[in-house]
Amino acid sequence: MAAYVLTRAGLNVTVLEAGGPWDNTTDSAMFKWPYESPRRGASTPAKPFGEFDGCIGGWDLPGEPYTVAHGESFRWWRARMVGGRTNHWGRISLRFGPRDFKAKTYDGLGDDWPISYEDVRPYYEKLEQLVGVFGSKENVPNAPDSLFLPAPKPRCYELLVQQAARRLNVTCVPARLSILTRPLNERPACHYCGQCNRGCKTNSNFSSTNVLIAPALKTGKLNLITHAMAREVTLDRSGRASGVTYIDTTAGSEHHVAARVVVLAASACETSRLLLNSKSSAFPNGLANGSGTVGKYLTDTTGTDVAGFIPKMIDPVPHNHDGVGGMHVYMPWWLDNKKLDFPRGYHIEVWGGTGMPEFGFMGGIQNYPGGGGYGKQLKADYRRYYGAYVGFSGRGEMIPNENSYCEIDPRVVDRWGIPVLRFHWKFTDHEYLQVKHMQETFRALIAEMGGVSHSQMPYREPDEGEGPMKRREAVGAIAAAALTAAFRWTPEEARKAAQWARDAIAAQTPYQAQFFTPHEWQTVRVLADLIIPRDERSGSATDAGVPEFMDFVMNDRPDGQIEMRGGLAWLDSQCRERSGKTFLDSTDAERTTLLDDIAWPKKAKPELSQGVAFFNFFRDLTASGFYSSKIGIADLDYRGNEFVREWTGCPPEALQKLGVHYED
Ligand SMILES: Cc1cc2nc3c(=O)[nH]c(=O)nc-3n(C[C@H](O)[C@H](O)[C@H](O)COP(=O)(O)OP(=O)(O)OC[C@H]3O[C@@H](n4cnc5c(N)ncnc54)[C@H](O)[C@@H]3O)c2cc1C
Ligand code: SF4
Repeated sequence: MAAYVLTRAGLNVTVLEAGGPWDNTTDSAMFKWPYESPRRGASTPAKPFGEFDGCIGGWDLPGEPYTVAHGESFRWWRARMVGGRTNHWGRISLRFGPRDFKAKTYDGLGDDWPISYEDVRPYYEKLEQLVGVFGSKENVPNAPDSLFLPAPKPRCYELLVQQAARRLNVTCVPARLSILTRPLNERPACHYCGQCNRGCKTNSNFSSTNVLIAPALKTGKLNLITHAMAREVTLDRSGRASGVTYIDTTAGSEHHVAARVVVLAASACETSRLLLNSKSSAFPNGLANGSGTVGKYLTDTTGTDVAGFIPKMIDPVPHNHDGVGGMHVYMPWWLDNKKLDFPRGYHIEVWGGTGMPEFGFMGGIQNYPGGGGYGKQLKADYRRYYGAYVGFSGRGEMIPNENSYCEIDPRVVDRWGIPVLRFHWKFTDHEYLQVKHMQETFRALIAEMGGVSHSQMPYREPDEGEGPMKRREAVGAIAAAALTAAFRWTPEEARKAAQWARDAIAAQTPYQAQFFTPHEWQTVRVLADLIIPRDERSGSATDAGVPEFMDFVMNDRPDGQIEMRGGLAWLDSQCRERSGKTFLDSTDAERTTLLDDIAWPKKAKPELSQGVAFFNFFRDLTASGFYSSKIGIADLDYRGNEFVREWTGCPPEALQKLGVHYED
């Protein structure tokens, strides 16, 4: 923002960016189908939120460690690219309310800000006119209305959520996201592809990359240096900032850029690191640290999630339900803390429904009413239960405490020799009680919708860093079920493997498995087709290339290898025990007898628990591969991932089925 404002005012500006260049108008994966990648949208180390995500970064960056005090836990997400985290943020753009600036006055905790809402209000207005935020005027106490663009109509399940919220007296209003529902400042309106996290090729949502940096570059006044890791702010003889020393991370060489004014905007913790590392005889504790509070009283967003199965949403009426890349309704804080056992509030985010199927599709089908299974019955269940869920995420305010802070670790440096941060972390009862309230509220909402949650009520663990919490992680965990891991293949190897698989399928020549042995390969093919067979509506797992997908995944995410190999061996050993034959050599009847014993976990005998666990894992992977394929996506009648001129919301047949309606 500083670069945007200053260059347009005629000043020369240099931006040092530790990561690489990025342009969402060309680099975004908008409209890409999962089957265009062998990974089907799964995460990679550089893209932990999925390979199509618009943000390069993660909790662990190679060569850039941070440390955490012994016995404590904290995870630090960092972006490394032009535009930082705004390349995939949720675009939830809420103003602070008057109370947020003066919270101590109300509850005695933390500190009041030295400025008030009225001081900041004119800047919110300027920002909203530049960026574009949709929403609606609601007069909610302490959730000030903005200069809003019109909000999109709620999706079908969001109407159900609103209905339940109303009955429970929870305020539920149109969301407030920085996405254009009308053209603004030469940026076109959204075309409702639902993929904001991938970055928007038409610039219809906000990311600093193309709404701030790109126009700043156009002035000719901005010198953007990428792969430039700022190390230290340098001072002149009078003790004033004179520039920044930085490392060219591609060459490892050190450089200096002189400046009359230095603005630090490297994210909260990295900026603290820069200040603390900018030590001199005049400033032995680092810059701007006369009070000793740089890095202290660190806070994170409190958060937790609950998802629930909603029977009313079974057998969805097919339609394009993508909408904008985010929720269309949300719940601002609606209660009076004087009547509660925790301070401050939280808002609730809403998700669910029939999104684009990709890696992790409907993991844990055994938790649905069908109880698991295989074959045509299972295929019918996937169709019926597809999208029949909603989820809620809480985002709340943490009270700063003296045990949560970062400092320079005196013993550890990064790959360029720059001292790294050491974190200390402690949540207090304020946060735990707030999260408990979130959990209870989300469960009440799901129950009010006639649903049931499969998530366990979390128990209080030793502190967990980045929240008791971590919405994105939880969403990822739901999506990826048991399939978490690291990546070993290079993108080039992955591309080659995928091409090879496609060529082999096209040429009908036998595929050369990379991970599976020939015996395992044949077993996988038979088992996958027993789980998802051909039926009147679509082809089978092998028709959709599921075994090839699994072979790729086993190399791409090696932490499933033992489970897979061990499970296939278990299958053979069970068959040998029962009939003296391998699974492959068994008759159809023998195979189905075995599957009947392990495919419905609730009915399975305890001594078969190993087989049940393997079958759950294998079935999830089969579904991931099948329903992210062209055949599987067509089978589900998913109708999105396309340009939509006007968002019309939930169609009349779906409204009728769910028993909801729009209020005009
Ligand atoms: C998944 C996700 C969803 C989110 N959703 C929302 C939301 O809906 N609403 C909301 O209000 N907030 C949201 N946030 C938070 C929001 O994105 C961040 O608070 C915001 O982007 C922080 O901006 P920043 O410029 O301080 O830091 P960043 O966006 O992290 O940018 C920092 C930049 O500095 C660079 N850098 C770091 N160190 C150096 C160095 N030493 N030298 C040079 N460059 C350096 C980095 O590479 C990066 O480009 C979300 C965050 C995540 C991860
Ligand atoms: S949903 Fe709209 S704003 Fe988001 S990426 Fe698609 S077109 Fe762009």
